[in-house]
Amino acid sequence: MSQPILLRDVVAALDARYRPSLAEEWDAVGLVCGDPAAAISRIHFAVDATLVTVEEAIASGSQLLITHHPLLFDPVQSVAATSTKGLIIHRLISNGVALFSAHTNADRANPGVSDALAQALCLLDVELLEPMADEQGIGLGRIGRLGSPMRLADFLEHVSSALPVGVAGIKATGDPDKMVQRIAVCGGAGSSALPAVISAEVDAYVTSDLSHHRVGEFVDDVGRDGPVLIDASHFGTEWPWLKQAAELLLMDLAGFGTTVETTVSTLSTDPWSIHEPKRSV
Ligand SMILES: [Zn+2]
Repeated sequence: MSQPILLRDVVAALDARYRPSLAEEWDAVGLVCGDPAAAISRIHFAVDATLVTVEEAIASGSQLLITHHPLLFDPVQSVAATSTKGLIIHRLISNGVALFSAHTNADRANPGVSDALAQALCLLDVELLEPMADEQGIGLGRIGRLGSPMRLADFLEHVSSALPVGVAGIKATGDPDKMVQRIAVCGGAGSSALPAVISAEVDAYVTSDLSHHRVGEFVDDVGRDGPVLIDASHFGTEWPWLKQAAELLLMDLAGFGTTVETTVSTLSTDPWSIHEPKRSV
């Protein structure tokens, strides 16, 4: 008879895929709550642990919620249900749901967050954008190429239909008629990889959370023929990872001989909820 899969088995599989040592020093990855000896038969995936996605995990009958963003970054003195984060912890524990996060370790892992983004955009021949110095095949961001060159305007339409970009839509620099084929991507906030984007000689860079100053300086530096920047939503560029992570985890747990089911959140946790169309200054 097959043994149930325990939370500690799932955590071991996740830690092997998304090595905690790959995470940034400031990050807070791994198990947030949950009993390693608890049996796991259903796992829910979401970008963020919010009251909404936690209720979704509970309703799905999951015993584990896996998120990209950590719930707790800063040291806490209390998880009383008087704060939102405390309430989230209470809802999880009182419903027997563990919480695990793979954040910057999932950004750098291969396959990781940016591989899922590259795949969602149908990029071919995907390679690393910013390799880690001492780790073979691991690093931030990816570069790939479109099957054939596209007008930037058509590529933006492609990005916006491939990703859940939400009400904010996508913004881009440059000329809509520019032809693009070699594309860099980085799921989430990708401004740290802007120097690598210049060295990579790509036609466009898809990421999120680029600031006014960084974009202005970049455009001045690279000029008309340099890479265009495409700012999609933070949530939208990371969401494709959920499906990829669910599939990889199912593969990793297949050896246990017990079936685990996974569900992926379809609720947007993008905090932006309104977009006012363009007006002149
Ligand atoms: Zn993120």
